[in-house]
Amino acid sequence: MRIVFLGPPGAGKGTQAEALSKAKRLPHISSGNLLREVVESATTTGVKVREYIDKGLLVPDQIVVDIIRERILKNDCKNGFILDGFPRTLSQAKVLDETLKKIESRIDVVFYFSVSKESIVQRLSGRRICNSCGANYHIEYVPSSKDGVCDKCGGKLYQRTDDKLETVVERIKVYHEQTEDLVDYYKKNGILKEIESESKIETITKNILDTIKKASQKPGFINHGVV
Ligand SMILES: [Zn+2]
Repeated sequence: MRIVFLGPPGAGKGTQAEALSKAKRLPHISSGNLLREVVESATTTGVKVREYIDKGLLVPDQIVVDIIRERILKNDCKNGFILDGFPRTLSQAKVLDETLKKIESRIDVVFYFSVSKESIVQRLSGRRICNSCGANYHIEYVPSSKDGVCDKCGGKLYQRTDDKLETVVERIKVYHEQTEDLVDYYKKNGILKEIESESKIETITKNILDTIKKASQKPGFINHGVV
């Protein structure tokens, strides 16, 4: 089963992708995490990618496409994958389809997470990360017991550059401008499923699993061993 998670940053895609990844034993490929790995590698590509991320801008298609293509052609993606944060543009979606066609495959379901701008801002701008162990906190939903200090290791908590309020607002605007065509494209292909992401986490997970079950029963579905 090849799945795409679409939706603005902060819509809860990551949490759902993790749950689905466990339930269906499919690799969760987050383009954000992949890009961060590249940035940490401090290669020429890494330095370039960092400049875009720090400004809250999207990393250019060609760079992202190459990184993702390499990843989904790896062996652990043979039975499928969950793409989270990619594609972001229509041209990326087309390159993805072409790549999959070459291995006689295709995207089976696209989940589109809709969420209000206000709640995204609230979710993202409150996120804090421990600079020592990487634990995640949220100043409202998952606060540490002592302000700015990690409960697990006593490390200092920081805010990612791209989670700052101004950057978040810019990211959401850019996201909607870039994805309108993309949503239409998948809708026309008949594989788009909208997810109301303000519902409870468990309700959303169940909804996603039900949809996947139905999709796998559709005529023409290629069963690669995992559904
Ligand atoms: Zn820590």
